[in-house]
Amino acid sequence: MKQTIFSIQDLKKYYLVKLGLFKKAYIKAVDDVNFLIREGEAYCIVGESGSGKTTVTKMLLGLELPTEGKIEFLGKDLSKLLSDARSAKDFRKNVQAVFQDPFSSLNPRKTVKDILEKPFKVHNEKIEMETTERLLEEVGLIPPKEFLKRYSHQLSGGQRQRVCIARALALKPKVVILDEPTAALDVTIKAQILNLLIDLKEKYNLTYIIISHELPLLKSIADKISVMYAGKIVEEGAAERIFNNPKHPYTLGLLESIPPPDPKSAKTKTLPTLEGEPPSPVNPPKGCRFHPRCPYKFDLCDKIEPEKVEIYSEHYVSCHLFNRK
Ligand code: SF4
Repeated sequence: MKQTIFSIQDLKKYYLVKLGLFKKAYIKAVDDVNFLIREGEAYCIVGESGSGKTTVTKMLLGLELPTEGKIEFLGKDLSKLLSDARSAKDFRKNVQAVFQDPFSSLNPRKTVKDILEKPFKVHNEKIEMETTERLLEEVGLIPPKEFLKRYSHQLSGGQRQRVCIARALALKPKVVILDEPTAALDVTIKAQILNLLIDLKEKYNLTYIIISHELPLLKSIADKISVMYAGKIVEEGAAERIFNNPKHPYTLGLLESIPPPDPKSAKTKTLPTLEGEPPSPVNPPKGCRFHPRCPYKFDLCDKIEPEKVEIYSEHYVSCHLFNRK
């Protein structure tokens, strides 16, 4: 069995918000979430906006503290790791992030060379010219000497994201958290960046945590998938199973709302899509949170919250359809 990198146990994140002059309520952004991420996996967390996936990412990066529950990194409590300056620095070195918008992720007043040298300076590590050049070669920015001199406005969107990936790899991390890494890019560039990420993962045995709202896009890269809806994981399992045999009605909806690749068929075919909007995180629906949008709902669904059921080895679904006695 591969080493567990992150263990997430009963994780909750609630935010207190004011509703008018005297009324307060909690936004339940993440509500009792459990999962494991193992070494070398590309673990993908998928859902619409408001599903809680970005809040989970912030907690994994140590940018937000859980309201309840625990995150362990390599068997150690993350909140304790972060309370000690030395172990916090080690954690930051080992867990790097690449964000959605490469333009705002790069300082416009710095050259690519400055940007790539910064992680080494922050961690007091030796920098050599060959190191920054090698990093650019790794992400396909060739000739590297030419790119080192440029500022972010002199790069295309895809090139900027390649610089962000090179910066994330600079200190040889164990884990890279990729928050919608291709969302701001054109379709052809998306595919190039995904292929690059696949190659780098193989080469350096990286563990990826990928956050995305585009489930189909993850087919080529994902090893495991967690589908989140309204703060909960509704389905989790091996990517191959989720793509070939999805079980939860919400996962089916996410897969069915894909436009077909052939533009001619797009003109002739009516596409099924997910109807309705995700619920308010302040007051989520009783019972199954997906029931107002679910085409398969029945009498139990708006009354009792479904339990998580293991339907195959390490394939979990929270839906009453799979828990009927
Ligand atoms: Fe649909 Fe009911 Fe399953 Fe929820 S529990 S996904 S409403 S069938």
